[in-house]
Amino acid sequence: SCRASMETDVSQRKENAPAHGVSETVVGVLGGGQLGRMLCQAASQMSITVNILDPMVNCPASTICHHHMVGSYDNSTTVEEFAKRCEILTVEIEHVDADTLEKLEKQGVDCQPKASTIRIIQDKFLQKVHFSRHGIPLPKFIQIEDEESAKRAGEQFGYPLMVKSRRLAYDGRGNAVAKSEEVLTSAINALGGFGHGLYVEQWAPFVKELAVIVARGRDNSISCYPVVETVHRENICHIVKSPANESWKIMKLATDIASKAVASLEGAGVFAVELFLTEDGQILLNEVAPRPHNSGHHTIESCYTSQYEQHLRAVVGLPLGDPSMKAPASIMYNILGEDEGERGFILAHELIRRALCTPGASVHWYDKPDMRKQRKMGHITVVGPSMGIVEARVKSLLNEENADET
Ligand code: ATP
Ligand code: MG
Ligand code: MG
Repeated sequence: SCRASMETDVSQRKENAPAHGVSETVVGVLGGGQLGRMLCQAASQMSITVNILDPMVNCPASTICHHHMVGSYDNSTTVEEFAKRCEILTVEIEHVDADTLEKLEKQGVDCQPKASTIRIIQDKFLQKVHFSRHGIPLPKFIQIEDEESAKRAGEQFGYPLMVKSRRLAYDGRGNAVAKSEEVLTSAINALGGFGHGLYVEQWAPFVKELAVIVARGRDNSISCYPVVETVHRENICHIVKSPANESWKIMKLATDIASKAVASLEGAGVFAVELFLTEDGQILLNEVAPRPHNSGHHTIESCYTSQYEQHLRAVVGLPLGDPSMKAPASIMYNILGEDEGERGFILAHELIRRALCTPGASVHWYDKPDMRKQRKMGHITVVGPSMGIVEARVKSLLNEENADET
């Protein structure tokens, strides 16, 4: 990326440059991981300028964004500096400096979604308090401050008990399950003790996990993607099936709860709402992400408007696009790091080779500089004329040992 022209600020750029893109608004994205990368890919199609702020020189978005400012999205001075070069700030990760976003907003900087939304969501406990106040159904939860309050929560909610970090959680890092009171302390210690802020949730006896991507435009128009089923393995999203195979009633309930949750938050963009479906047909909210999300990767190939394009349309103030599916069925499979180093890359590439020979399959590789176990390295989306056919295609693309997981 071209550092030199980063010196030119946004106002100058606008005066000198004729209109070329679908929107001339310069979008700044805090974070340059795979979500930032796919935002840049969507932006490229419509010639929308996207700048990225990420501390990693070779982050996934670095090679395809307009400008990459190398620095921390959690550092006040850096975020302020980055904001000068953008007209709208948005995020691909919620663990950013919310104080600074709030301060910038007061100075007139356009943040979408709003800093208040990022602040609520980045602290899972605050998020739960917020949604319960808005009448969204969720598992019971309570803050824990010491052994005493943790034990009391266990007595109240029963076991297994889900212990969660309030902040900086992703891919299940920040969750620990205590199967009984005897192992409660070790679950708490596994999350680094009480110092960083913990809370507990009652175990949600779900039969399925569902997710809904909800988009909101600057004019407050709302648009929901079809309900998907997310399958997690060791707390990490593993497979996403779209659409979910549920009754119209369940699909409607999930969509209603998701849009009600998003309606309680401020600002434009796409929001991913993770839900639990219980045996008796109840829907409980797990968490909301104020950005494009793993459960919406499939939209690139399976919907008329991808979640990435939709997010850009929303934040720059273009009309929202059609979220409906253009293929009858799709399955998204996450390529997770299986092994550190070279061996991991070999395994991933064998899978990719098979995907390249699979009808309806599209390969996404995030170009992360190194592989770690369980790290999201890429994904494969398979579309087809029916869920049965898509399932069969995924099964044959995965080798024998994990073919049963579809
Ligand atoms: P993400 O990568 O989605 O941000 P995360 O680290 O924020 O993940 P959660 O979404 O809180 O983690 O939880 C990860 C998974 O753990 C859930 O998708 C679900 O499978 C399981 N889980 C979370 N909370 C509960 C609960 N209260 N009861 C049962 N299972 C739960
Ligand atoms: Mg999360
Ligand atoms: Mg989650």
